Amino acid sequence: MADVELSDDPAQFRADVAAWLAAHVVGEYAELKGRGGPGDEDIGFDVRVAWEQELGKAGWIGLGWPEEFGGRGASLDQQIIFAEEYARAQAPARVNHMGENLLAPTLIEYGTAEQQERFLPGILRGDERWCQGYSEPNAGSDLANVATRAHLDGDEWVINGQKVWTSLAHVSHWCFVVARTDPDSARHKGLSFLLVPMDQPGVEVRPIVQITGGGEFNEVFFDDARTAADLVVGEVNSGWAVAMGLLGFERGVSTLAQQVGFERELEHLIELAKARGRASDPVLRQRLVDAYIGLHLMKWNAMRSMAASGVPGPEASISKLFWGTWHRDLGELFIDVLGPEGLIAEELPYELTLEQKLFLFTRSDTIYGGSNEIQRNVLGERVLGLPKEPS
Ligand SMILES: Cc1cc2nc3c(=O)[nH]c(=O)nc-3n(C[C@H](O)[C@H](O)[C@H](O)COP(=O)(O)OP(=O)(O)OC[C@H]3O[C@@H](n4cnc5c(N)ncnc54)[C@H](O)[C@@H]3O)c2cc1C
Repeated sequence: MADVELSDDPAQFRADVAAWLAAHVVGEYAELKGRGGPGDEDIGFDVRVAWEQELGKAGWIGLGWPEEFGGRGASLDQQIIFAEEYARAQAPARVNHMGENLLAPTLIEYGTAEQQERFLPGILRGDERWCQGYSEPNAGSDLANVATRAHLDGDEWVINGQKVWTSLAHVSHWCFVVARTDPDSARHKGLSFLLVPMDQPGVEVRPIVQITGGGEFNEVFFDDARTAADLVVGEVNSGWAVAMGLLGFERGVSTLAQQVGFERELEHLIELAKARGRASDPVLRQRLVDAYIGLHLMKWNAMRSMAASGVPGPEASISKLFWGTWHRDLGELFIDVLGPEGLIAEELPYELTLEQKLFLFTRSDTIYGGSNEIQRNVLGERVLGLPKEPS
């Protein structure tokens, strides 16, 4: 049972969402207002897990999923209103972006009924968190070079190999893993998309400390790790299409809530610039205005992509390229607005301010989910139809 009805009247729905958030972002949740975002993921994690479960109980997870899959079939406008009010209330950052926004739509599109029944409810309740096992030391931009292997042993897959940069693996229950299941295959062929439990002897997670001082990503080693034979999404040896479908969700439509977060960051930056008397600097003022324009372009483009149903195609790269670059530039602008103060740590030896963490973490926005260069290649070759880059 959901706490709040999905009213068709936008003003009513907005008021209902705002009232629910005002009544629930209290106590220890209110202490985490505005926390847990980029570069700040370690903060209050257990409390944010409890918050995720509150959201689940109230029916706020899977808001836009079809009702037949346990979602609420909310319209695009309703999802936008929820995201906007969530950001306005500064509710704590969410903990299962990969489960809710990447894996779930992929399972809805490509999974079996059993897989959907097994995994969607755990995401809806906020109980089962997911991580993404794509990148490896020799397979980042060149993902088809995946060397992690899996073979069937009776009714189980046995997995061996190494993943890297696996965000939130240390706090995830499951990992979706791209692995080579046909040993004689090369490149895009012979890969499968496996769902692998993290809590088992064959999986070792080694955290990597990042420049922000926190650690949101990890190395993950599979050493005879196991998963059930039926936990392969799509056809065995045809996992590339599933993996790419998921990337379409990652690069495009899943980012709407994130963009509403960007809006709050920009508001904070403008307040900071005014308070420091920096808004009258003509060059900084111009950059702030450019950021404002960019934010709105990005939002309209995201809404345009969201209005189209189905798996996003290569055009999702437009969104990824735009928001990754925009957010990285916003991080730089924060430090430029702060001036020399931006260079001083909050506390010694290495506690950084939120603005500094944002600056450092946003360097990665143009890398993860496919680097800017890769997005340009996708756009050039697969959207514009230009000749392929020589390899
Ligand atoms: C914060 C963060 C979180 C991440 N989280 C995850 C995660 O949860 N799961 C996961 O699987 N991965 C994750 N990644 C990994 C990310 O997807 C890869 O870092 C990314 O795909 C780039 O791969 P790479 O690091 O191996 O760099 P490389 O592929 O080695 O690229 C190095 C440089 O060469 C350029 N380059 C490479 N190929 C080409 C080409 N053909 N044309 C032009 N330029 C090229 C790249 O743009 C880049 O500048 C994360 C990364 C970061 C930074």
